[in-house]
Amino acid sequence: MSECIFCKILNKEIQSEIVYEDQIVCAFKDINPTAPVHILIVPKTHIENLNAVQQQHKELIGHVFVVSKELAKKFGIDEKGYRIVVNCGPDGGQTIDHLHFHLLGGRKFSWPAG
Ligand code: C5P
Repeated sequence: MSECIFCKILNKEIQSEIVYEDQIVCAFKDINPTAPVHILIVPKTHIENLNAVQQQHKELIGHVFVVSKELAKKFGIDEKGYRIVVNCGPDGGQTIDHLHFHLLGGRKFSWPAG
């Protein structure tokens, strides 16, 4: 049995507000949103982070971006714009060791990142 929180969410052992799901990814609302729209798009395969991405994951990663833009449209942030963030490792701000893509929108973001 996996101890990974996101694997538990994907297996419905932990409750979450799922907004999209298919065979490859699951997308749910972040429990601690930092923007009016804050959705996590999570591959169903347990990949620790970007450092663990392999050639075999190319299709999966591409799929994440197709799903992202469809969710951006669904949540009405496609025209004004949005941000997709992947945190990797401690300095990157990663807190959950299961690859995930933050889809953020509904407010204006600053740059450079803090
Ligand atoms: O990129 P990082 O690893 O920091 O992101 C993890 C995200 O997972 C956080 O934004 C946190 O709020 C979210 N989270 C969640 N549900 C949980 C645990 C964490 O949405 N049960």
